[in-house]
Amino acid sequence: MTRLYSTRVALAAALLCIGPAALAQDAAALQRAPEIATGYAEKQGAVARRYMVAAANPLATEAGYRMLKQGGSAIDAAIATQMVLTLVEPQSSGIGGGAFLVLYDGRKVHSYDGRETAPMAATERLFLDKDGKPVSREQGIVGGRSTGAPGVVRMLELAHRKHGKLAWAKLFEPAIELADRGFAVSPRLNALLRYDQARLPRDPVAAAYFYDRDGQPRPVGHVLKNPELAKSLREIARGGADAFYKGRIARDIAAKVANHPTNPGLLTVKDIADYRAKERDPVCADYRKWKVCGAPPPSSGGIAVAQMLGILENTPIAAHPPVEGQLDAEAIHLFSEAGRLAYADRNRYVADTDFIPLPGKGIASMLDRNYLAQRAALIGDRSMGSAQAGTPQGMQVAWGTDTALDRPSTSHLVAVDQYGGGLSMTTSVEDAFGSRQMVDGFMLNNQLTDFSFDAADENGPIANRVQPGKRPRSAMSPTLVFERTGGNEPGRLVLATGSPGGSTIINYVMKVLVGTLDWNLDVQQAISLPNFGSRNGPTELEAGRVGADVIARLKARGHEVREFDQNSGLQGIGRIRRDGQELWFGGADPRREGIVRGD
Ligand code: GLU
Repeated sequence: MTRLYSTRVALAAALLCIGPAALAQDAAALQRAPEIATGYAEKQGAVARRYMVAAANPLATEAGYRMLKQGGSAIDAAIATQMVLTLVEPQSSGIGGGAFLVLYDGRKVHSYDGRETAPMAATERLFLDKDGKPVSREQGIVGGRSTGAPGVVRMLELAHRKHGKLAWAKLFEPAIELADRGFAVSPRLNALLRYDQARLPRDPVAAAYFYDRDGQPRPVGHVLKNPELAKSLREIARGGADAFYKGRIARDIAAKVANHPTNPGLLTVKDIADYRAKERDPVCADYRKWKVCGAPPPSSGGIAVAQMLGILENTPIAAHPPVEGQLDAEAIHLFSEAGRLAYADRNRYVADTDFIPLPGKGIASMLDRNYLAQRAALIGDRSMGSAQAGTPQGMQVAWGTDTALDRPSTSHLVAVDQYGGGLSMTTSVEDAFGSRQMVDGFMLNNQLTDFSFDAADENGPIANRVQPGKRPRSAMSPTLVFERTGGNEPGRLVLATGSPGGSTIINYVMKVLVGTLDWNLDVQQAISLPNFGSRNGPTELEAGRVGADVIARLKARGHEVREFDQNSGLQGIGRIRRDGQELWFGGADPRREGIVRGD
């Protein structure tokens, strides 16, 4: 294992030394992973008794920790953390983006949808050229066209009104201080700036902020100040979310989108002012001794995770734990087959349910135990290669298949508080640096490229096609796990986890669930396991982390194996018992810069 880890560190170091031109020109690599792998540093995890937070950047974790220490609730910590992430991890998330949040207040599980919405002027032709052909992803992403009305600030305000303990304005203090004083550019931010050197600096505002006069990215350790963001955050701290959605900031966003020189978009001041965050019922499913809750549509994450668990419950995966960190071939087989089945349904059926109904009786039909047992029965000794979507009970719809592949960037944070509450939140500007448009100190999202570019195929209209005011389907899978009580109410919270990673998110999160619940690993061990699974294509393995003998065994069973960097950004906090004491144990992904803090 140690040898495999060091190989990866060496690879990452080599990557960091590649010249900017080579990085910028590596279009093929960009296609695979816009938020590139930048290193692998083994992490040990940390314990706490009362409260804890984990996020993708140490400064962001620190901000959340400060709030928890001052008596804040998990949502207070999440807001402070998100505001700092806007500043220090602008490639992944921010106030110009959207998010999904699953929150436990000590009694009840809530789910909040802060997903971006399409402008009212958008039609299913948004990503088609004048001949009706889909534009390239590059043309789709970069510019104004891909930007939806941001959801993060409204969603956090909605959740704070119900679950906050500290004053709203206080939660902005760490980010405002850091934006004024400056923060040291991290190795990951620097590497991503280098990687994006052909694209991001085409926006003059981003060029002036992220690059020097010669066009070189700000070096690691460079103290970057962001007075524009400090100003925006002060306005939001003082005026609430309205200061973002109904004032100067909204006007600046709409103007930036409309005035892009080559690829203007449709988002208006009215689209932004009309944005609503939504509270929805979480998707909860029983799995062995636990109740697992996630985000409902427009994310496909909650349903896909619950389907995979429901399928795997019919298999002996628990009897195939990793040995000394090395994954077992049978476990990869079962897990990737379950993934094929769940992703086939996801790609066919799941979209924004405010526009497109799910088959049959909705989530209940898709998670029906008999249906999932029938799906599990399709798993044999050899790989099925690729699965067909199933026919959940009472199905009345037939859709085309969405082939949109969202690409990995995004960020994840988890927190538990001293009041018995906890949360899991995935937050995103979609691609690395979103649409590459910077305004008022933050990046605008390109989340609309999560819609299917095509509106229909030979089977009919595609559920996830663009429609005015609709939210693009997501794979974000913020997840909370509880002990089962026998009734509908959840028992004790035992785990909060989630990850970025585009459509692979579902597999990353599932790895942590199977790792902790079935294989009894602690959350750090589970996060550090090699990533693996299938999105209903090849069997995907994290490059250099799975033994040749295991790969040979998979191939012998008909698996087409693809190894590549699987740049998850998992964070997790799980309950443990140590020396008779109940403690929280938190872990952060060795593949990114995150840390855990708690007391
Ligand atoms: N846009 C993706 C989604 O909503 C997330 C992107 C990522 O995780 O990298 O599913």
